[in-house]
Amino acid sequence: MTFDSHLLNLVEVAARLVNGLTPGLDRGHDVAIPRGEARPQAVAQALGGNGRRTPAVTTRQATALAAHATQMRKVFEAVERGDLSEAARVLNALLKRTGARPQLDPLDAGGWHVHFHGSTDALATGWAAGCATGLALAIGSDLAGRLGVCEAERCDRVYVDTSKNSTRRFCSTTCQNRTKTAAFRQRRK
Ligand SMILES: [Zn+2]
Repeated sequence: MTFDSHLLNLVEVAARLVNGLTPGLDRGHDVAIPRGEARPQAVAQALGGNGRRTPAVTTRQATALAAHATQMRKVFEAVERGDLSEAARVLNALLKRTGARPQLDPLDAGGWHVHFHGSTDALATGWAAGCATGLALAIGSDLAGRLGVCEAERCDRVYVDTSKNSTRRFCSTTCQNRTKTAAFRQRRK
Protein backbone atom coordinates (compact mmCIF):
# COMPACT_ATOMS: atom_id res chain seq x y z
CA MET A 1 0.00 0.00 0.00
CA THR A 2 1.39 3.42 -0.86
CA PHE A 3 1.55 6.16 1.72
CA ASP A 4 -1.15 8.10 -0.07
CA SER A 5 -3.74 5.33 -0.14
CA HIS A 6 -3.11 4.56 3.54
CA LEU A 7 -3.57 8.25 4.38
CA LEU A 8 -6.72 8.47 2.30
CA ASN A 9 -8.08 5.37 4.03
CA LEU A 10 -7.66 6.96 7.45
CA VAL A 11 -9.33 10.19 6.34
CA GLU A 12 -12.24 8.24 4.85
CA VAL A 13 -12.65 6.23 8.06
CA ALA A 14 -12.70 9.55 9.96
CA ALA A 15 -15.51 10.79 7.68
CA ARG A 16 -17.47 7.55 8.20
CA LEU A 17 -17.06 7.79 12.00
CA VAL A 18 -18.33 11.38 11.95
CA ASN A 19 -21.29 10.45 9.74
CA GLY A 20 -22.23 7.37 11.73
CA LEU A 21 -21.72 8.71 15.25
CA THR A 22 -22.50 12.43 15.45
CA PRO A 23 -26.02 13.83 15.76
CA GLY A 24 -27.43 16.34 13.30
CA LEU A 25 -28.98 16.04 9.86
CA ASP A 26 -28.50 13.17 7.46
CA ARG A 27 -29.85 13.59 3.90
CA GLY A 28 -32.90 15.54 5.11
CA HIS A 29 -33.54 13.59 8.32
CA ASP A 30 -32.74 14.37 11.95
CA VAL A 31 -30.29 11.86 13.38
CA ALA A 32 -29.20 11.17 16.96
CA ILE A 33 -26.14 9.32 18.24
CA PRO A 34 -26.98 5.62 17.76
CA ARG A 35 -28.11 3.97 21.01
CA GLY A 36 -27.79 0.44 22.39
CA GLU A 37 -26.58 -2.19 19.94
CA ALA A 38 -26.75 0.30 17.07
CA ARG A 39 -23.73 2.21 18.43
CA PRO A 40 -21.09 -0.56 18.21
CA GLN A 41 -22.67 -1.59 14.89
CA ALA A 42 -22.19 1.93 13.51
CA VAL A 43 -18.53 1.86 14.58
CA ALA A 44 -17.93 -1.59 13.09
CA GLN A 45 -19.43 -0.39 9.81
CA ALA A 46 -17.24 2.73 9.77
CA LEU A 47 -14.06 0.76 10.51
CA GLY A 48 -14.77 -2.07 8.07
CA GLY A 49 -14.89 -1.69 4.32
CA ASN A 50 -12.12 -1.18 1.76
CA GLY A 51 -11.29 -4.87 2.03
CA ARG A 52 -10.83 -4.72 5.81
CA ARG A 53 -12.69 -7.17 7.93
CA THR A 54 -15.36 -5.75 10.21
CA PRO A 55 -13.94 -5.62 13.75
CA ALA A 56 -15.72 -6.70 16.94
CA VAL A 57 -16.59 -3.51 18.85
CA THR A 58 -17.81 -3.18 22.44
CA THR A 59 -20.32 -0.54 23.54
CA ARG A 60 -17.65 1.08 25.71
CA GLN A 61 -15.22 1.40 22.78
CA ALA A 62 -18.02 2.68 20.55
CA THR A 63 -18.92 5.38 23.08
CA ALA A 64 -15.27 6.43 23.32
CA LEU A 65 -15.03 6.65 19.53
CA ALA A 66 -18.26 8.66 19.37
CA ALA A 67 -16.61 11.29 21.60
CA HIS A 68 -13.55 11.36 19.32
CA ALA A 69 -15.87 11.61 16.28
CA THR A 70 -17.36 14.81 17.73
CA GLN A 71 -13.87 16.33 17.66
CA MET A 72 -13.26 15.05 14.12
CA ARG A 73 -16.52 16.71 12.99
CA LYS A 74 -15.12 20.04 14.23
CA VAL A 75 -12.15 19.53 11.90
CA PHE A 76 -14.36 19.01 8.81
CA GLU A 77 -16.51 22.02 9.77
CA ALA A 78 -13.47 24.25 10.32
CA VAL A 79 -12.01 23.27 6.93
CA GLU A 80 -15.40 23.94 5.28
CA ARG A 81 -15.30 27.48 6.76
CA GLY A 82 -11.68 27.88 5.60
CA ASP A 83 -10.50 28.09 9.21
CA LEU A 84 -7.43 25.84 9.08
CA SER A 85 -5.99 27.19 12.33
CA GLU A 86 -9.08 26.00 14.21
CA ALA A 87 -8.79 22.61 12.45
CA ALA A 88 -5.13 22.46 13.53
CA ARG A 89 -5.99 23.39 17.12
CA VAL A 90 -8.62 20.63 17.40
CA LEU A 91 -6.34 18.06 15.74
CA ASN A 92 -3.33 18.89 17.89
CA ALA A 93 -5.49 18.36 20.99
CA LEU A 94 -6.77 15.04 19.62
CA LEU A 95 -3.24 13.87 18.71
CA LYS A 96 -2.12 14.69 22.23
CA ARG A 97 -5.09 13.03 23.93
CA THR A 98 -4.76 9.80 21.93
CA GLY A 99 -0.96 9.74 22.20
CA ALA A 100 -0.67 9.26 18.44
CA ARG A 101 2.68 7.84 17.39
CA PRO A 102 4.08 6.18 14.27
CA GLN A 103 5.20 2.55 14.45
CA LEU A 104 6.71 0.25 11.83
CA ASP A 105 4.59 -2.89 11.49
CA PRO A 106 5.34 -5.88 9.25
CA LEU A 107 2.98 -6.37 6.30
CA ASP A 108 1.39 -9.78 5.58
CA ALA A 109 2.81 -9.60 2.07
CA GLY A 110 6.29 -8.88 3.44
CA GLY A 111 7.95 -5.54 3.91
CA TRP A 112 7.09 -2.89 6.46
CA HIS A 113 4.60 -0.11 6.82
CA VAL A 114 4.32 2.86 9.14
CA HIS A 115 1.05 2.63 11.05
CA PHE A 116 -0.18 5.19 13.54
CA HIS A 117 -0.90 3.83 17.00
CA GLY A 118 -2.32 5.45 20.10
CA SER A 119 -1.01 5.47 23.66
CA THR A 120 -2.72 2.07 24.15
CA ASP A 121 -3.69 -0.64 21.69
CA ALA A 122 -7.38 -0.33 22.66
CA LEU A 123 -9.49 -0.16 19.51
CA ALA A 124 -10.97 3.29 20.19
CA THR A 125 -7.66 4.97 21.08
CA GLY A 126 -5.83 3.29 18.21
CA TRP A 127 -8.36 4.28 15.56
CA ALA A 128 -8.82 7.81 16.93
CA ALA A 129 -5.03 8.26 16.89
CA GLY A 130 -4.85 6.91 13.33
CA CYS A 131 -7.70 9.08 12.07
CA ALA A 132 -6.32 12.18 13.80
CA THR A 133 -2.92 11.57 12.21
CA GLY A 134 -4.52 11.03 8.79
CA LEU A 135 -6.50 14.26 9.12
CA ALA A 136 -3.41 16.12 10.34
CA LEU A 137 -1.32 14.90 7.38
CA ALA A 138 -4.17 15.86 5.04
CA ILE A 139 -4.40 19.38 6.47
CA GLY A 140 -0.63 19.71 6.13
CA SER A 141 -0.70 18.68 2.46
CA ASP A 142 -2.49 19.43 -0.81
CA LEU A 143 -5.42 17.36 0.52
CA ALA A 144 -6.27 20.24 2.88
CA GLY A 145 -9.19 21.61 0.89
CA ARG A 146 -10.64 18.16 0.29
CA LEU A 147 -12.50 17.76 3.55
CA GLY A 148 -16.03 19.08 3.33
CA VAL A 149 -19.52 19.28 4.80
CA CYS A 150 -22.54 18.55 2.58
CA GLU A 151 -24.06 21.70 1.06
CA ALA A 152 -27.58 20.26 0.66
CA GLU A 153 -30.54 21.57 2.65
CA ARG A 154 -31.01 19.74 5.94
CA CYS A 155 -27.78 17.77 5.77
CA ASP A 156 -24.52 18.13 7.69
CA ARG A 157 -22.80 14.85 6.82
CA VAL A 158 -19.13 15.14 5.87
CA TYR A 159 -17.08 13.82 2.95
CA VAL A 160 -13.59 13.52 1.53
CA ASP A 161 -13.42 14.86 -1.99
CA THR A 162 -11.44 12.44 -4.14
CA SER A 163 -12.71 13.85 -7.45
CA LYS A 164 -10.05 14.83 -9.99
CA ASN A 165 -10.88 18.53 -10.05
CA SER A 166 -11.92 18.88 -6.42
CA THR A 167 -15.54 19.67 -7.33
CA ARG A 168 -17.47 17.61 -4.80
CA ARG A 169 -20.14 19.48 -2.76
CA PHE A 170 -22.42 16.77 -1.38
CA CYS A 171 -22.15 13.81 0.99
CA SER A 172 -23.98 11.49 -1.38
CA THR A 173 -25.81 11.22 -4.69
CA THR A 174 -29.03 11.37 -2.62
CA CYS A 175 -28.20 14.94 -1.58
CA GLN A 176 -26.95 15.86 -5.04
CA ASN A 177 -30.28 14.73 -6.52
CA ARG A 178 -32.35 16.37 -3.76
CA THR A 179 -30.61 19.68 -4.46
CA LYS A 180 -31.08 19.34 -8.23
CA THR A 181 -34.80 18.62 -7.80
CA ALA A 182 -35.23 21.59 -5.45
CA ALA A 183 -33.48 23.93 -7.90
CA PHE A 184 -35.66 22.61 -10.74
CA ARG A 185 -38.84 23.23 -8.72
CA GLN A 186 -37.60 26.71 -7.81
CA ARG A 187 -37.10 27.58 -11.47
CA ARG A 188 -40.61 26.38 -12.42
CA LYS A 189 -42.27 28.65 -9.86
ZN1 LIG B 1 -25.85 15.39 2.40
